[in-house]
Amino acid sequence: MVDRAAVLAALEAVIDPISGQGLVSAGLVQGLVVAEDRAGFALEVARDRVATYAPVRDAAEAALKALPGVTRVSVVLTTEAAPQPRTASLSRAAVDQGRPKAPVATDRPAHVRRVLAVASGKGGVGKSTVAVNLAAALAARGLSVGVLDADVYGPSLPTMLGIGGQPAYEDGAIVPHLAHGLKAMSVGLLTKADDAMIWRGPMASQAITQMLTQTRWGTAEAPLDILDGAVIVSTPQEVALADARRAHTLFQRVGVPTLGLIENMSGPIFGRGGAQAEAQRLAIPFLGDLPLDAALREGGDAGRPPVAVDPAGVIADRFAVIAALVVEGLKP
Ligand code: ADP
Repeated sequence: MVDRAAVLAALEAVIDPISGQGLVSAGLVQGLVVAEDRAGFALEVARDRVATYAPVRDAAEAALKALPGVTRVSVVLTTEAAPQPRTASLSRAAVDQGRPKAPVATDRPAHVRRVLAVASGKGGVGKSTVAVNLAAALAARGLSVGVLDADVYGPSLPTMLGIGGQPAYEDGAIVPHLAHGLKAMSVGLLTKADDAMIWRGPMASQAITQMLTQTRWGTAEAPLDILDGAVIVSTPQEVALADARRAHTLFQRVGVPTLGLIENMSGPIFGRGGAQAEAQRLAIPFLGDLPLDAALREGGDAGRPPVAVDPAGVIADRFAVIAALVVEGLKP
């Protein structure tokens, strides 16, 4: 087990070139996570100082790797949100109390007209598959669409869209990757695959907020609240539906409208119709079902989403209907 005090001491021994203080005293260590054999944090610096701090990030990583018992290290160089320098200290306060801080409404991204969450109560039900193909279906309607993979435990967007490599920065903003006409950003592009698990609590929400607000998603003018609606994906079985119910309750609690439920992997193996009945019970729209289909899985593994590569196919047709219902649900 890594010793937290030793981690802080090691980071304090790395000197901030601007203030001349140790990194901890200089307030540059954000969202520190120390667990088992892992240590990680976000090195948060002013937008115009990213280049200055790249060697500091490397020095901090080396200092952590040199500690006994530390085998996995993740130091992510992030820039502070320009208009809200207080965000950093708010996050720090939340870390001190051991509570994760949810992204706040003031962190809303500029130049984004609508933000839609694709959620599920559990992993492996097809959230990423639906997100990517729904994004492609929305793009096919002429919308400019960005996809943010907020899955800090197992980011799959890079695989599903066939993208890789650290994103470029321009004037302190992240330039998203472009794939199949979609702008894309993922935690998986900021860390090595094994490191993603380190991102917990405050560090995770900070990373997601940052990716959402500091990526150049587009040029539209109207910034709105952070989430305009949510789509919930479930498989037809009761266990998955129970989780979908919980996801809906959570969105209700935070005032985000659930635009509807999608049944994924519908068919002879997992059953059919469970999600539609559940949507009725919850009084939310049912957006459609997607069969268990080899093309969806293979397309996901190969970075070739069926909706984008086969826009005239049956899967694209299904998603076109879902996209139309989502757009309808997002209308003010
Ligand atoms: P989540 O994001 O909820 O964890 P994924 O979208 O990564 O789930 O899906 C988990 C796995 O199931 C992936 O390998 C994906 O390709 C596959 N998959 C998802 N939906 C379908 C489907 N309708 N038919 C066949 N395979 C699917």
